[in-house]
Parts: sequence; C-alpha cells; structure tokens
Amino acid sequence: TTEATRELLLSRIRDVPDYPKPGVLFKDITPLLADPVAFGALTDLFVELCTRHGATKVVGLEARGFILAAPVAVRAGLGFVPVRKAGKLPGATLGQMYELEYGTAEVEIHAEDLSADDRVMVIDDVLATGGTAQASLELIRRTGAQVAGVSVLMELGFLSGRERIRSALAGAPLEAV
Ligand code: AMP
Repeated sequence: TTEATRELLLSRIRDVPDYPKPGVLFKDITPLLADPVAFGALTDLFVELCTRHGATKVVGLEARGFILAAPVAVRAGLGFVPVRKAGKLPGATLGQMYELEYGTAEVEIHAEDLSADDRVMVIDDVLATGGTAQASLELIRRTGAQVAGVSVLMELGFLSGRERIRSALAGAPLEAV
C-alpha cells in the first residue's frame, strides 16, 4: 500500500462517537463507499492480497464485509461466500457460537460453499474484539477449507482481536490497510 492510498482510505472513514451506544467510537465506512476512487483502491488492495496468498474463495462477514468482499471476488475471478448471522441462510448450514461482552452470538455458512480444495480470504471492515472473525475462521476450518488470510480495512488494536484470532489463523496472515 502506498502511503497516499492509505491516507486516502483512512480519510474516508468517519469516526462517530457514542454509536451505537455510549463509549463506542464507531468507524463509519459509508464515506469510503460513496467515493469510487477510494472504494476502487481498497478493492484493488484486497484483490492483491487474494492473489498474493493464493485464495480460491472470498468470504465476506455480514454485513459490511459483504459490501467490501463482493467486488473483490468479482475482480479476482473468485467465488463469493457469505458468513451470515444465524437464521438467514436457507440451505444446510454449519453454525458457530461465540462470546460477546454480554451474551453470545452465532454465525453460519452454507456447508456446501467451501471444500477441502479451497483457500479462503476473509474480508471485513473492522476487526474489533475478533469474536466474529474467530467464529468465522472456525466455520471455514470445519468445511475442510484452508484459511488464506484475513483482510480488514481497520484493526482496533486496543481490543486485542489479533490475539483472539491467533490460533484460529493457524499461521495465516491478518492484514489491515
Ligand atoms: P468483533 O468485536 O471483532 O467481533 O466485531 C464484530 C463486527 O462489529 C465487525 O464485523 C465490525 O463490522 C463491527 N464493529 C465492531 N466494532 C466496531 C466499530 N468501533 N466501528 C465499526 N464497526 C465495528
């Protein structure tokens, strides 16, 4: 990533204090999505990581990960696979629960969408606590596929998501812009 591209991308993320609840600094990517140069540059960057790490499929994490990952999949010539919140996928699914600050959540994947032949690039906007990514990596592992990497626009380092997903990454790279 050139420093100019990085600056452009980060300048298109809006910090919204106390959203969706007090104490949270929300990273709003809608200004980036609305700027075709920035959105295109981010897409190119993710495509380059898919190529470098030999990905055969692109997984997007609901919901903003869908928006970022879909154009990457198309440009890279790879299939797109959604990891969704529980109860949204109509076919045969694998599910994985994970811990939130208060309570639990669950993500699902269509079991038939990945196989042992696949190397998967996981894309999302923000790595926060890493709970969602960790559960998603676990789902991918259970399909028999390998993880090529996790690529995000931003990593909130103070939440230690990188540590939380370390073992699920199994040596695959976690990269932020
Ligand atoms: P995590 O805590 O890593 O499981 O975060 C789960 C999801 O919440 C990610 O897919 C992000 O899109 C979203 N998220 C968490 N924290 C933030 C934040 N501060 N700003 C924007 N999105 C966030």
